[in-house]
Amino acid sequence: MQYYDDGFRGGDPDLKAAAPNRRDRTPFAPLPKKVDVLIAGCGPAGLCLAAQLSQFPEIDTMIVERKPGPMEKGQADGVNTRTMEMFQAFGFGEKVKRESYWVNQTTFWTPDPANPAHVRRVGRVQDVADDSSEMPHTLLNQARIHELFLDVMRKSPSRLEPDYSWSVKDLTVDPTTDDHPVTVTLENTGVNAGITKTVRANYVVGCDGARSNVRKAIGGELHGDAAHQAWGVMDILANTDFPDIRQKCLIASATEGNVLILPREGGYLFRMYVELDKLNPDERVSARNLTDEHIIAAANRIMAPYTVDVKEVVWWSVYEIGHRLTDRFDDVAEGESRNPRVFTAGDACHTHSPKAGQGMNVSMQDTFNLGWKLAHVFQGRADPSLLRSYSAERWVEAKRLIDTDHAWSRIMSAPPGESELDGTDMPRMQAQFIENLEFTGGLAVKYDQSALTAAPTHQALATGEEIGRRFHSAPVVRVADAMQMQLGHVAEADGRWRIYAFAGRNDAAPGSALYRLADWLKTDPASPVVRHTRRDEDIDAVIDVRAVFQETFDQLAYEDMPSLLKPEKGPLGLQDHEKVFCVDHKGLGDIFDMRGIDRDAGCMIVVRPDQYIANVLPLDGYEDLSSFFAGFLRPVGEG
Ligand code: FAD
Repeated sequence: MQYYDDGFRGGDPDLKAAAPNRRDRTPFAPLPKKVDVLIAGCGPAGLCLAAQLSQFPEIDTMIVERKPGPMEKGQADGVNTRTMEMFQAFGFGEKVKRESYWVNQTTFWTPDPANPAHVRRVGRVQDVADDSSEMPHTLLNQARIHELFLDVMRKSPSRLEPDYSWSVKDLTVDPTTDDHPVTVTLENTGVNAGITKTVRANYVVGCDGARSNVRKAIGGELHGDAAHQAWGVMDILANTDFPDIRQKCLIASATEGNVLILPREGGYLFRMYVELDKLNPDERVSARNLTDEHIIAAANRIMAPYTVDVKEVVWWSVYEIGHRLTDRFDDVAEGESRNPRVFTAGDACHTHSPKAGQGMNVSMQDTFNLGWKLAHVFQGRADPSLLRSYSAERWVEAKRLIDTDHAWSRIMSAPPGESELDGTDMPRMQAQFIENLEFTGGLAVKYDQSALTAAPTHQALATGEEIGRRFHSAPVVRVADAMQMQLGHVAEADGRWRIYAFAGRNDAAPGSALYRLADWLKTDPASPVVRHTRRDEDIDAVIDVRAVFQETFDQLAYEDMPSLLKPEKGPLGLQDHEKVFCVDHKGLGDIFDMRGIDRDAGCMIVVRPDQYIANVLPLDGYEDLSSFFAGFLRPVGEG
């Protein structure tokens, strides 16, 4: 991480310098009358957006939560590899790695053909395929993830804090004005319960969960189906003679139903999802009065001959599987040409089965997609029409995920078939699990071609970095200090674009294609760096250019690197030494080979602020690069 660029300050480097003109937060300070963005709900979706926007103190962000304080336990716990990559960008990936359980293997248990009343282990699958991500698949309670985002917000230049005990009751949008057109009615749910206040906002984001008032206010409806199957979930401290208790396990009994075991952080805690009763078509799960006792009894029946002796039930819940999706994730109806003012994200617009571990991950990915777009609009870098791409991109992904999750839930609730019982076939759930790995890792997301996602004209220059998918990190060495690291970890959640310029075979000298590109990017009026960066901003404030060479660090003349790659920045004009990389010389792998980069020609990989690949271009693809950025960024002076 880089800091002290604005002068030396001792103490925690995560604590950024506070911006002036922040909102009065003393105990009896009134709520603001107007804000730029109002976020409803402090779940993963809302907090991820708030953490992102808190980095931009010029954006006046407010996040309200109807509960009196932060969540303490329960709900989701699965953090897939894609989300871990995002956490790395927020600066707490390492913390999560240290605290969490890592899912390395998943084991499968089915009825023993010799005694179908007993289960036995039939298979193991490596949970994260080799080199699918540099980050692990982890399990950590949702409340802790909330805390990590809250910490980012607290330490941000905005020092953003949620307003607890305020519920969004309703909102209206005035299409005739651009001055804070959304009027939000907030209702106090705390000591002043029932009191209402109105706040006007330029944009509202409903991250207020499956019963979202924001969704209802913009006429959104969740459509979908229910499987009429009750499941129980419990986080427990317990002893058991079941041997795989510290592995993720899928257990299918012959007649008693299925169990999913998820070991958790800390080495002792684990979660069990336990299949309970079949429900009648019109029946709600609450009507059955199921308790933790029922969940424990069912788990013991399913896992026979093994037993679970529960010492403490930390949290439990019963639920019914449902897959639901709204028609759109903003307030612009089909055929309308205006730009959106209200958005929904996370469970407010799509719900999944908890066992697939997707709800929390997808919710955060929704708002990671929206956050930088809102920031671009407020900073005057992009036209508000950019915001239309949020619903367009995320709806398609939510639909794909729901379809996959739907099939998976049905398999998880189905009894083992004949061939599985006699052991002649791989269990259906194991086969489907393997097929779904990319989806469950969050790595299958691929945005369709648009102004933000170029046509794959030059994809052959980087076959392992597919346009539309997330940038797939690989090991490199930073030249200035010979630091071995992941290239993807240079990307912070700071709303900036990145161009990774991979040098061709003989490109490590002045006059080569990479040096010419660097000079053009720095000086030419048509360069997107020149066109979209204001004079008073650092040269990498909008587009951060990094170079990667094929040579090892000791073969490169750092002193001869183009000045774009050693820019002087910040109020003190300090030189940035972290822009130049080369292949790893210590054997972790050659990024050119690992990601299919054309060694002769090299290439540019353009990566969005949310880490998705927007374009792959040749090193001399100047015009294409200019017109790509001109497709959604305003030239300076037009903001
Ligand atoms: P949520 O996490 O639901 O957050 C919404 C937030 O908005 C809440 O804090 C809520 O209090 C607040 N809110 C609601 N209405 C308003 C309002 N009008 N104004 C202001 N604030 C409001 N997923 C799993 O993967 N595994 C599980 O075992 C699991 N169990 C769950 C158990 C329960 C009881 C629930 C509710 C969800 C569970 N989930 C589970 C789902 C998972 O937690 C969600 O998919 C994920 O949290 C979605 O994040 P979100 O931010 O969209 O919504």
